[in-house]
Amino acid sequence: SGEPVPGTTARRRLTVVSGPSGVGKSSVVGELRALDPDIYFSISTTTRAPREGEVDGAHYHFVDRPTFDRMVADGQFLEYAEFAGNCYGTPRAPVERALDQGRPAVLEIELQGARQVREAMPDAQLVMLLPPSWGELVDRLTGRGTEAMEAVQARLSEAERELAAASEFDAQVVNADVKTAAQELLDLVRGPSGSQD
Ligand code: 5GP
Repeated sequence: SGEPVPGTTARRRLTVVSGPSGVGKSSVVGELRALDPDIYFSISTTTRAPREGEVDGAHYHFVDRPTFDRMVADGQFLEYAEFAGNCYGTPRAPVERALDQGRPAVLEIELQGARQVREAMPDAQLVMLLPPSWGELVDRLTGRGTEAMEAVQARLSEAERELAAASEFDAQVVNADVKTAAQELLDLVRGPSGSQD
């Protein structure tokens, strides 16, 4: 961390990780976090209520809708989207600071946001995390037990749309095993041959 390596194109170091709800994005990204402390992980802002165990400022910045709308109007988000009835956005400044320092940055966001990043930063790398099968995804989503039935339905229909967009992504990683998926993701974040530039 610290000074940018001469000759690096910082913009290329942004990786977007997307994938349907229930695919295990948080687990894989959590594992990735343990593998490389140099990576900057964006903390999103959301209007969703915190789940059990979620800490404000660590998992998300939790805000109300008027605050979120004000941040949108102020241009504070790199991208933002509404997902299953709640708003989510990536604060722009911390990501740009990390990239300016030459650190690889990772965003864990949904499809509409990934598309916005692609438009804003064409060099960004888009990675989709896939479930081993659709049935596996349904099991994981219904078994999670943190959502009401309508919320599960909403997430399943979003999941279908997200999976249909897999070919828009630069790479796909199947999450059959969290550690294996995290290692594959690390290789993608670090780039070809694991070089730092
Ligand atoms: P959850 O409510 O399960 O934490 O997140 C719901 C979805 O929103 C997930 O697909 C998650 O990746 C996505 N998400 C989280 N933060 C952001 C963000 O800042 N922007 C966008 N576009 N999606 C986000």
